[in-house]
Amino acid sequence: MIDIFSFLPSNRKQTSSGWVSFNAPCCIHNGDSQDKRKRGGIKSNDDGWSYHCFNCGYTTSFILGRNLSIKARNLLTWLNVPQEEIERINLESMRHRSIDGMLYDREKRQVADQLAGVRFKEFPLPKDSVLLDEEEHPMQFTYILHRNAPIDYPYMIRSSDGVHWTRPHVMIPFTYDNVIVGSTTRFLDGKQPVWINDFQPGYVFGTDLQKHNWQYVIVTEGIFDALSIDGLALMHNTVNDKQAKLIRNIGKEIIVVPDQDKAGLELIDRAVELRWAVSIPIWPEGIKDVNDAVCKLGKVATLLTILQAKETSKIKIEIGKQRLVKRLRS
Ligand SMILES: [Zn+2]
Repeated sequence: MIDIFSFLPSNRKQTSSGWVSFNAPCCIHNGDSQDKRKRGGIKSNDDGWSYHCFNCGYTTSFILGRNLSIKARNLLTWLNVPQEEIERINLESMRHRSIDGMLYDREKRQVADQLAGVRFKEFPLPKDSVLLDEEEHPMQFTYILHRNAPIDYPYMIRSSDGVHWTRPHVMIPFTYDNVIVGSTTRFLDGKQPVWINDFQPGYVFGTDLQKHNWQYVIVTEGIFDALSIDGLALMHNTVNDKQAKLIRNIGKEIIVVPDQDKAGLELIDRAVELRWAVSIPIWPEGIKDVNDAVCKLGKVATLLTILQAKETSKIKIEIGKQRLVKRLRS
């Protein structure tokens, strides 16, 4: 049997509610200071355990019969569990794989998210929405291709004859933990409004697009920026506290790529405040955001320009910002 408790620091205490608390090992990896007040807690349950840090907000859980998530692996690594041991735990877990283990355990995930304070109401799509179909909706399909967005994303079309829905459009459902929690619609006829958004405060698009073995999470402003680079979209030019918590909770190195316009300058300041890396690549003339770059340079080349221009030092980010201000003026 897998005994997580044998890996915990010896300086720990058991609470009456079943949590074992100890100095959290996660905070220093998430931009927070070292926890000295035993704010990391782990609790075992019938088929695994969950971890929650009350200092930096890191959460993860493990369910016997399922693969160790990247966040659970991170935690074990930070607890100095050797890599071979982590692999052994994973193998042991997979030997307990059952239908139950393979089913998506939504209830447990929601508990973890509630602990992190990040959750969204499920939001069923309107009844008249249908999946975008290449043959039935060639104009909309061409638009998706033209924006270099992945064609396997479940784009939708609304079929009713409401005020807006007779206009050509593409609706992009928003998911969080693979549950639909909102949407945005892009109209394609050049008339106003261009967008209709329907999302909950603190939402960040793209968390479900992230892969566990990726080192970085790329934070952009717009939905097509995020779709074209497999990043996140803030849906505006700042990061509110709930969004910051959610993005940190992904457990990757964060790179903010602002739009190269006046509004983007505000996002740079906010990223510095959050101590996140910022990338302001010097792209060829006419490219002002990630999606433009992917359309003109391709995805891999754009990713390279982002990584090359990544800065973590406040001074260097400021220099990059001033250079951008100058370019915007000229
Ligand atoms: Zn922590």
